[in-house]
Amino acid sequence: SKTSDKLSPFLESGIYRFENSNVVFIDPVRMLNRSYTRFRSSPSAYYSRFFDSKETIVTSDSKKRKRKENKTPHDLNEREQAATLRHQQARPMLLKAHGFLMKATDLLAIMKDLRGGSNICSSTELSEQHSFIELGKVWQAPLYEIILKGAWKGLERVVPVFNNLVVNETSDDMEAEFLNNKYILPRESCFYMSDLGQVHNLIHECNVGFNLIVIDPPWENGSARQKLRYPTLPNWYFLSLPIKQLAHPDGALVALWMTNREKLHNFVQKELFPSWGVSHEATYYWLKVKADGSLISDLDLFHHRPYECLLLGYFHGQGTNSKQPPRLRPIKHDQIIISIPGEYSRKPPIGGKFLMLVLPLISIELLLEHVPDVKPARCIELFAREMTAGWTSWGNEPLHFQQSTSFVRD
Ligand code: SAM
Repeated sequence: SKTSDKLSPFLESGIYRFENSNVVFIDPVRMLNRSYTRFRSSPSAYYSRFFDSKETIVTSDSKKRKRKENKTPHDLNEREQAATLRHQQARPMLLKAHGFLMKATDLLAIMKDLRGGSNICSSTELSEQHSFIELGKVWQAPLYEIILKGAWKGLERVVPVFNNLVVNETSDDMEAEFLNNKYILPRESCFYMSDLGQVHNLIHECNVGFNLIVIDPPWENGSARQKLRYPTLPNWYFLSLPIKQLAHPDGALVALWMTNREKLHNFVQKELFPSWGVSHEATYYWLKVKADGSLISDLDLFHHRPYECLLLGYFHGQGTNSKQPPRLRPIKHDQIIISIPGEYSRKPPIGGKFLMLVLPLISIELLLEHVPDVKPARCIELFAREMTAGWTSWGNEPLHFQQSTSFVRD
């Protein structure tokens, strides 16, 4: 039947395409699983929120904020007007996308089971998580080591965990041990755990020339809740990210996660992208829903929109050996990705997705086609909290979601 035609590829890949649209629903757990051979990502660990209907975004001052939305245009200051206009432009498209989901009864019926039945627990509650952010700051940091264990007994290596490129070069999952906790490193992946101050070391430590650079910076957003999870940095710090040096000289696709602050949009368009040598090509939206399909918050809530933006840009490159850099194809506009969010600020795994299935969706394979000698694609995530097969992860806690308690054995 038509229904099972669409559900079986979803159950396999984690991607549900709404026909003739720019909208997909994804199950991050299924997509993460592609990175592993012997382990699976645990659905109950991933989906620690938004399965109980009581989990909703309400802030103490949400009433006040809601009122802001009802203000007449004259009551808003210039920036609020710009933010409202941006929202009004995206709104019909987001509503339409959400309508697709609410009509997909086959999908809705299995969404509430995505977390799995029994054993509902949150990994972070069960076991002690190390704070890599804190450990990386102490004077002993250079002495901390991680033990890498290959699939075969006897294949064991001990290497520094901070300020060091730690590599799983094998084509199988690798288990690692650090201060009595276990971590799973996906095949052909590596991480460099350091503060932003040392990010330039990446240029010498790994083979640069990345074709895809995904960045999710710790933007300041003034919420006290966020400050408890990880430190944030003022915008101007991100100007120093070595995008030009990391990118392939023939060009790279840069994907930047944004918050909805108008000030930030201005900063990125006017300062950040220009300083990185990146041109803005398209904007994608991540629409966040609960297990019953409803939006995680009122679409019009001023400071808690149920969506975030991903800006896509091209670093055009300087070309090599007097060759002109190849022309990069235009990227489709306004794609919408719907999913049930995981832990606080955790983004859907567009990484694996970019590489594999959604590839045609954003036509990055066209980009890769035009970049000579770089197959398979070389990809890096900056400010990463997890690892992906085939990728380099950099940040001050790239092992955060790699703890073995977030996985089940296949
Ligand atoms: N994309 C990630 C995910 O999906 O889970 C979330 C990234 S979060 C928005 C930003 C990350 O930047 C946090 O892990 C935070 O600890 C890290 N960070 C903050 N300050 C940093 C610094 N000075 N150097 C390196 N990383 C930093």
